[in-house]
Amino acid sequence: MTKYVYDFHEGNATMRALLGGKGSNLAEMTGLGLPVPSGFTISTQACMEYLANGEQLTEEMIQQIETYLARLEAETGKSFSKGDNLLLVSVRSGAAQSMPGMMDTILNLGLNDVNVERFATLTGNPQFAYDCYRRLLHMFGNVVYEINGSHFERFLTNYKETHQRENDQALTVDDLKVIVAAYKGIYKKIGQKEFPQDPKTQLFEAIRAVFSSWNNERAFVYRNLNDMSHQGGTAVNVQEMVFGNSGQNSGTGVAFTRNPSTGENKIFGEYLLNAQGEDVVAGIRTPLPVSTLSEVMPDVYAEFIRVANLLEDHYRDMQDIEFTIENGKLFMLQTRSGKRTAKAAFKIAVDLVNEGKATKDEALMQINPKSVDQLLHPTFNPVALKIADLITDIGLPASPGAATGNIYFDANAAKAAVQAGEKVILVRQETSPEDITGMSISEAVVTSRGGMTSHAAVVARGMGVCCVVGCEQINIDEDNRRVSYPGGQLEEGTIISVDGTNGAIYLGDVEKMPTEADESFQTIMAWARERSHLKVRMNAETVEDIKTGLAFEADGIGLVRTEHMFFKEERLREMRRFILSNRAQEQNRALSAILNYQIDDFVNIFSLTQDKPVVIRLLDPPLHEFMPHTKQEITHVAEQLGTTYAELQQRVIDLTEVNPMLGHRGVRLAVTYPNLYLMQAEAIIRAAVQVNTATFQVKPEIMIPLVGMKEELALLRQQIEKHIEELLKELGVTVEYTIGTMIELPRACLIADQLVDYADFFSFGTNDLTQMTFGFSRDDAGKYINQYISEAILPIDPFQTLDVEGVGELVKIATEKARQKQADFKLGVCGELGGDPNSIEFFHQIGLNYVSCSPYRIPIAQIAAAQSAI
Ligand code: ADP
Ligand code: MG
Ligand code: MG
Repeated sequence: MTKYVYDFHEGNATMRALLGGKGSNLAEMTGLGLPVPSGFTISTQACMEYLANGEQLTEEMIQQIETYLARLEAETGKSFSKGDNLLLVSVRSGAAQSMPGMMDTILNLGLNDVNVERFATLTGNPQFAYDCYRRLLHMFGNVVYEINGSHFERFLTNYKETHQRENDQALTVDDLKVIVAAYKGIYKKIGQKEFPQDPKTQLFEAIRAVFSSWNNERAFVYRNLNDMSHQGGTAVNVQEMVFGNSGQNSGTGVAFTRNPSTGENKIFGEYLLNAQGEDVVAGIRTPLPVSTLSEVMPDVYAEFIRVANLLEDHYRDMQDIEFTIENGKLFMLQTRSGKRTAKAAFKIAVDLVNEGKATKDEALMQINPKSVDQLLHPTFNPVALKIADLITDIGLPASPGAATGNIYFDANAAKAAVQAGEKVILVRQETSPEDITGMSISEAVVTSRGGMTSHAAVVARGMGVCCVVGCEQINIDEDNRRVSYPGGQLEEGTIISVDGTNGAIYLGDVEKMPTEADESFQTIMAWARERSHLKVRMNAETVEDIKTGLAFEADGIGLVRTEHMFFKEERLREMRRFILSNRAQEQNRALSAILNYQIDDFVNIFSLTQDKPVVIRLLDPPLHEFMPHTKQEITHVAEQLGTTYAELQQRVIDLTEVNPMLGHRGVRLAVTYPNLYLMQAEAIIRAAVQVNTATFQVKPEIMIPLVGMKEELALLRQQIEKHIEELLKELGVTVEYTIGTMIELPRACLIADQLVDYADFFSFGTNDLTQMTFGFSRDDAGKYINQYISEAILPIDPFQTLDVEGVGELVKIATEKARQKQADFKLGVCGELGGDPNSIEFFHQIGLNYVSCSPYRIPIAQIAAAQSAI
């Protein structure tokens, strides 16, 4: 027999999955001997079985609920139906993770036309009894029969106006009787139902409604938005009522044990006298600060403070508490870890450790890694946002931040505007490598196409530039220099504001709030680094990015993308000369020009990173990315290179590929143009020799991309090694270099044991590996991935969070194969997933050595790495 129902005495806080957050904490508080009204919880398992059973409670469930109801009656000495002491209960939903999309609470359940009179007599307070009854009718109608609450509210407001009743408490018994009758009319008219008079029927209907609400539209959407599983189910709590609305000696309130926005160690909350349930949050009357309770009811206040402290000590975290006072006696109705701003989170975590209330591990676990973004980037003032004009809010939040500027549609126009002193937002269909400088000087980048790993997204994140991609509602008309969106048109130069944290775009200049990384932040980050097994490196190649990463104490560089270094006018020219020329002599001239540029590049990098390891990926993109495309460009380049338009155009056509992502790129380039990689390897070694000092030795890790066969790697390794060894011999020095490969093809994962023989390390390139495993083009998949997610074909975007079953399995296979061959083989991850907390957990579990991510995501990754190790 399955146990579906648990008394509050039977559960505890560890049973959250089964009893839900609310139920497990009510049980925990009961166990602590706190004043919690009696009750029981029907499990989340019952909910899932109810749903699987065609939304029917099974016989077994019904029987157990009956048994626990009888026990509740015995425990409270009250009864649903007989005796002279009436049992009224609340029915409260509560999933394992709190979920605003679900059914609410029903209070005062058990009242009916007969009981309400008995309750009036019992309490000697008919006004109170009828107040409870009208509240029950409203909540029950709303929750169980889905009658829109506004029907009840509108009637009540009208009634108070026409009868000049200032507030709810001014309603007389006769008023309330009229209201109750009218509410029943609403049931008939709107709900085509009668209010069930039998308390048990009320109870069972309420339980069914709460269970069914797990699958309602709102709840479903909420779970999708928050990456939550649809498998959890909600529990239902049935609890004896206590009454905050039974007079001036009663009340109800909510409080946080510390200030949730600043973290200050001072109780923070509000209450209302003579009120019930949601009155405090509903804003019917203005609630009072909880500290004033010390004047109104000093004893209750003292008890409340004692309980609040006790709960915080017990849970070792800041608590969000709901309470009710009935005739001068305090009751606890809920406790949970309080939601807080990122700033408060860091302060509270550090304070709790300093006060001896929590361990460092517990403090680290309290930090939501994703909230770190909030701390490091400015945010919009929430009050200003409420009145701002929204342009669109369906964009993907690719890189956090809050930015305002004038819109421009190409990098040159953006540059000119910046030179003229404007702040600029670059708006493009999608960006390409030529846009990089334009992007770096912009406050934000907005694209109408592309997903979270599109060029714009990756580059902007790397730069820490605010970015929203895939805003499919905006249409960019580059010829006429304007964009249209559902609500209108924007000319070039118009001011907009971009929210990189949620993907929304607004008209005009929306006010911002600054944020600063304070002492608590530094403290937590130091604890995190101490605790992690995984090292956290940065993906970076510019001086600015590297400095940012080092400021966050990155453990070196996990990915230098050398192609980013070629998109400067004079280098591009040499690169084009190299690709286009058929004569060895001219090719070599071009290469040695590039060699000198690259030596400078690497000297700059190594001077900053010193003895920290640096993975340098040799040239990766398809050659035609370096080619001119428009007629104008081709004419210009032909002139530069001293060739004809026709010849150059033919060469461009020759190089064009139907499927560039599956094309002539990565190691394949080196097989056909071996000198390219040899030049880069030479530049790396020469730079290292220049930077090496007596105190530190540079540690370059040379990485060959897109390897799928051991023969490719064997060939390239042999060539590069030979070239380097000859060079070192010539220079008469040594350099501590290694040569490894990027693992980004499924085939490479499957033959990882063979590749180990020719590599000193692997780095998983998760963007390409995901693209190649799913066969999803990462630049185009944005168009359908959202629909895949909303239709539950995919649980999450695999470019944002590792697909454990598929891509993760490949990573695991490669890891096992490599480590079987060589137990301490060095393995890392570069690519976007290296900065994603859920993916990091997996990388930790399978025993990788490091992850690497954009500099601004390093703190997120460090926290996630520490949490994985705890
Ligand atoms: P939510 O999840 O929306 O907070 P709750 O189940 O916590 O819903 O109920 C909301 C409020 O209803 C509680 O904060 C409390 O004020 C009131 N409430 C719930 N159960 C009871 C009860 N047994 N007695 C008195 N008030 C209750
Ligand atoms: Mg609550
Ligand atoms: Mg790649």
